[in-house]
Amino acid sequence: MNNTFPKVPLLDLKAQYDNIKEEIKQAVDDVLESGQYVMGPYVDKFEKAIAEYCGVEYAVGVANGTDALLLTLDALGVGQGDEVITTPYTFFATAEVISQVGATPVFVDIEPDTYNIDVTKIEAAITSKTKAIIPVHLYGLPVNMDEVLRISKDYNLYVIEDACQAIGATYKGKRVGSMGTAGCFSFFPTKNLGGFGDGGIIVTNDAELAKKLRILRVHGSSPKYYHAMIGYNSRLDPIQAAMLQVKLQYIDEWNAKRRELALKYNEAFKDLPVHVPVQDSAPYLGVYHLYILATEYRDDLLAYLEKNGISSGIYYPVPLHLQEVYRELGFEEGSLPKSEQVSKMTLALPLYPELSEEMQEHIIAVVRAFYKERGI
Ligand SMILES: *Cc1c(COP(=O)(O)O)cnc(C)c1O
Repeated sequence: MNNTFPKVPLLDLKAQYDNIKEEIKQAVDDVLESGQYVMGPYVDKFEKAIAEYCGVEYAVGVANGTDALLLTLDALGVGQGDEVITTPYTFFATAEVISQVGATPVFVDIEPDTYNIDVTKIEAAITSKTKAIIPVHLYGLPVNMDEVLRISKDYNLYVIEDACQAIGATYKGKRVGSMGTAGCFSFFPTKNLGGFGDGGIIVTNDAELAKKLRILRVHGSSPKYYHAMIGYNSRLDPIQAAMLQVKLQYIDEWNAKRRELALKYNEAFKDLPVHVPVQDSAPYLGVYHLYILATEYRDDLLAYLEKNGISSGIYYPVPLHLQEVYRELGFEEGSLPKSEQVSKMTLALPLYPELSEEMQEHIIAVVRAFYKERGI
């Protein structure tokens, strides 16, 4: 391949900012002029907008997606001696928060096609200590929620949806985050709805839970300076809320663009020996947070892309049950084989709404040349 094509990044946040610069600057200025820099009307307004977008009653803004999960577990009383079922193939925060409240993560292997938690294996992992399930809508693809919710009813468990990568995705027409006891979102800059710094939010239809979360995020105080519980300092910044309010207007358009680009990749790679988790097969409608493909030749392909000026990424190289910090849980290599296999084979290609047709065609040509040169 020739190397004259400009470098292609995995993600280009500046390109998105450039398209909405004036609105973003105005939003920041509005907050600065308001004189209120913690909580206040811009946070309230954004919480209402997210609740409406997700089709739920309440939304509670917090400092980041990790805290959204952490405060929810805490508010639900999950703690010491409890077990929480989740997937080992996710960002570390999903399990980290379970450990932070003193509970134990119980990892259940993933489905080979979707890379999401294998719902047929959840029941076997339930014990008398199980309190909750955290399904993760990984890479923007919804989990089979009918099955998760059926199990949660049968065994009286909470369901906390980790929807940090999936805002806007739907399962049977319902937004992710709206189906469980609560849903958690992150506004980390690289997420589909990303801020210009950290941010997070919890959505729920449970009035008691929402009320408790609102108290927990301000040091457990209600009213101010009266503390009935130990809480956190974890609030969504009003400047972030105002900027996210601008971006929320575009999220459906951006998610649709991601889907369009992803479908083009799918079409271009369909005769290659790669596996791509399908995100748009009813009743699942994903939002392609990342465009992931699995290949036996992952490390070689990554090097080849790099050599040709294309950045790609490995999500996630080590499944959580094999992380050093979780050695004490007693998992060994081979204990959750699907997640181990997938973590060795997956690669993320550049995918973001501003990716040009020309750039995508270049990426496709380089991927195809890799296989052709090897005679595969
Ligand atoms: C990003 C992410 C989080 C954590 O969100 P932060 O805002 O970075 O704290 C949690 N779970 C998953 C699946 C994520 O992708």
